Amino acid sequence: MKKFVYMFNEGNSRMKELLGGKGANLAEMTAIGLPVPFGFTISTESCNNYYDEGKRISPEIEAQILHSLKVLEEKTEKKLGDPTNPLLVSVRSGAVFSMPGMMDTILNLGMNDETVKGMAHLTDNPRFAYDSYRRFIQMFSDVVLDVDTFFFEQLLEEYREQKGYASDPELTAEDWQVVIASYKKIVKDRTRKEFPQDPKEQLFLSIKAVFDSWNNQRAIVYRRLNKIPDHLGTAVNIQSMVFGNMGNDSGTGVAFTRNPSTGENLLYGEYLINAQGEDVVAGIRTPQPILTLEREMPTVFQQFSQTCHLLEKHYEDMQDIEFTVEKGKLFILQTRTGKRTAQAAIRIAVEMVKEGLIDKNTALLRVDPDQLNQLLHRRIDESYARQILTKGLPASPGAATGQVVFDADEAEALGNEGKKVILVRPETTPDDIHGIIAAQAVVTSRGGMTSHAAVVARGMGKACICGCEALKIDLKAKQFFVGETVISEGEMITIDGATGEIMMGEIPMIEPQLSEEFQLLLQWADETRKLGVRANADNPEDAKKAFEFGAGGIGLCRTEHMFMDAKRVPIVQKMILAENYAERKEALNELLPMQQGDFEGIFDAMHGFPVTIRLLDPPLHEFLPDKEELLVEVTKLQILNPDAPELVEKELLLKKVRQLDEFNPMLGHRGCRLGMIHPEIYEMQAKAIFYAIANLEDKGVSVKPEIMIPLVGHVNELKEMRQLVIDSALQVQEETGKSFEYSIGTMIEIPRAALTADEIAEEADFFSFGTNDLTQTTFGYSRDDAEGKFLQAYIENKVLPENPFAVLDRDGVGKLVETGVKLGRATKPELKTGICGEHGGEKSSIDFCYETGLDYVSCSPYRVPLARLAAAQATIRKQEKSLQVQV
Ligand code: ADP
Ligand code: MG
Ligand code: MG
Repeated sequence: MKKFVYMFNEGNSRMKELLGGKGANLAEMTAIGLPVPFGFTISTESCNNYYDEGKRISPEIEAQILHSLKVLEEKTEKKLGDPTNPLLVSVRSGAVFSMPGMMDTILNLGMNDETVKGMAHLTDNPRFAYDSYRRFIQMFSDVVLDVDTFFFEQLLEEYREQKGYASDPELTAEDWQVVIASYKKIVKDRTRKEFPQDPKEQLFLSIKAVFDSWNNQRAIVYRRLNKIPDHLGTAVNIQSMVFGNMGNDSGTGVAFTRNPSTGENLLYGEYLINAQGEDVVAGIRTPQPILTLEREMPTVFQQFSQTCHLLEKHYEDMQDIEFTVEKGKLFILQTRTGKRTAQAAIRIAVEMVKEGLIDKNTALLRVDPDQLNQLLHRRIDESYARQILTKGLPASPGAATGQVVFDADEAEALGNEGKKVILVRPETTPDDIHGIIAAQAVVTSRGGMTSHAAVVARGMGKACICGCEALKIDLKAKQFFVGETVISEGEMITIDGATGEIMMGEIPMIEPQLSEEFQLLLQWADETRKLGVRANADNPEDAKKAFEFGAGGIGLCRTEHMFMDAKRVPIVQKMILAENYAERKEALNELLPMQQGDFEGIFDAMHGFPVTIRLLDPPLHEFLPDKEELLVEVTKLQILNPDAPELVEKELLLKKVRQLDEFNPMLGHRGCRLGMIHPEIYEMQAKAIFYAIANLEDKGVSVKPEIMIPLVGHVNELKEMRQLVIDSALQVQEETGKSFEYSIGTMIEIPRAALTADEIAEEADFFSFGTNDLTQTTFGYSRDDAEGKFLQAYIENKVLPENPFAVLDRDGVGKLVETGVKLGRATKPELKTGICGEHGGEKSSIDFCYETGLDYVSCSPYRVPLARLAAAQATIRKQEKSLQVQV
């Protein structure tokens, strides 16, 4: 018979797939002797079985659950539903990957009109017993019976008001009994049934509800966002209850073994005295910082901090731990790898290596390259005198500016329009997820550092400020007040998540810098990686940034941006409009020294590293005015002012624009096709490069240019353009009396080039896979049209697994890259290969490039650190794989 249910002493942390993360870790902690309330885990396979059976718990699984319940009853010497000695349990969902706040836990299950009396008697604490019962009704009704918590909250609030109570702890046992009666009435009114009194019925209904919640909207959204497969299923943990709400010697809390925001090696967390379960994270009462526990409960604190050390050592990683203290006794309810900001991830990884806890490879694998984006973003300029409106808890670092919105739907709508918004809420719940995704940052007026908003924002790498109690939010009026100041929806604010400060308006930001730990980690990455990392840079500033971030060269320098400069466009237009060769040559001669200057700046910034320069690529009409606008202008002049002197000129321009107009510019007269028809343009560019080299040589700067011909589809194109470049070099060498080294290669961005790479390699010293265009030409998509029109739907409907412009399509585009490399190297074994599409800065594509044997990837300067790390991870993973094969 297949085993579907495991007691906590039957599992371990390697069984996550079966027991879920929570269940596996509860078992592991039980095994190492920590005080974990006993219980059992219903496996993820049971969840899948539940769906296979048409949402039914099979008799076999039911029998196993009942059996495990019996074992639990024996072990705890209590019985579910026994009024004299009732067993109470929690029902906790737990998927393979932790899904914060996605599925709700039910506490105090087993409570009914009889057991509550037993509890009151046993504990000699009726107030506690009735409080627990009402919590159970509320939670169970919300999660299982689908009766919104709001009705209960509203009733409770009215009751408090009527009695003149300020907070819940003031309610007496008798008060709670009145409230419970009304609660049950709410349930009856809303569900047309009595609140279930049979604990076994309660139990099975709850288990079903957990399975059902695997497919609720917010779980689906979260899985999609985090790329968690839908078929994993969730486990269910049934655990005997411990009570943090038994008085002032009891409490409950959450702590991280290190600071998840900065990485500092210091316990970080919060707790509440006389509280249960979710009270800490729900943001209802603002909790105490964990370090004050040392004063309030010294023994418990000591035991707890020892446990933290033990768990960190055991798991070799920073842990996020939930605990409860029942009458001075500590219980551990959960441990998991703590989510952290990029900054913390780096610091923790580096410090753990120094502490001897992990090795360098492990440290390198610990930091997610995607997360680094956070650190490579701009920050608020320190030198700016901030006008601080108010301050809250610094829940997730980063600076953000945006217009205030008070509603998740609104945030999503504006975010989709490309607006920058900051979501401001009293607190957030999992139902606000879509709004948080769309916002630049989140601000809440309630809740602590482990509240929903804080945890989710940190996970997403977004700035967040929590518990900003000075904010008085009026959701109806869509305004918030800070003292006298009123901020309405749509007004701009700036927040600094690292300090918790909120400021009005927009504030100047500065460029990021790499911390010492970050640089050390990247140094380890460089020692490990085998794949080169270059940057795409079109101007000296970007080249400097690239150099600073550790790029080993420039993989793509696009020359068209150099033509777009306001001062140059008229000259470029003159070149395009030229009636004859002489006129065109004149314009080109004017452009040449400007191009030369650009190249000198870039070469200079790269200190002798290789620089790949791509000759002009876009169709010429991109340098001319828009056809429709021009047509309107000309027509207006023709009607209103036919004698205007500029009319002739404009008409001429229009004629040229029409001539150059194309049905399909992406597939039109561009790339090397320009050089083939107007060789003088490429000639000018090549000469500018060589003059720049000659000039820098005088200054003692050595330069290794790689001249790249774009959009080659047939070897003959490259052959002709290569000769053109060689001839230009010879001319400049003769003229200047200098000799220099350079190489000539091509971009592979047309399928035909990849498929005939053996022929093309005869004429090329290097290949650079232009995977942006190669993706367009392989799929036959024009990127702008695809992303604007149908690609989103394709991804949502799983026609495509990912956006192929973001993550390299291995099966199609990747196959062409592989083919290109193989054929090219068959002709020329020393052929240098790299990629220069945006994929060069994306971790999974980088992995692919390494596996395919490319020499380097090239990406935007800001992504260079990320690529260095991802390249190291690719190397380590491959080593690990080959080790496994050997074993
Ligand atoms: P989540 O996955 O949302 O963190 P949990 O299952 O961890 O949900 O539970 C929510 C809260 O209930 C936590 O604060 C946890 O400590 C508390 N809790 C869960 N089970 C028990 C139990 N058996 N006794 C006391 N508190 C519990
Ligand atoms: Mg938890
Ligand atoms: Mg291209």
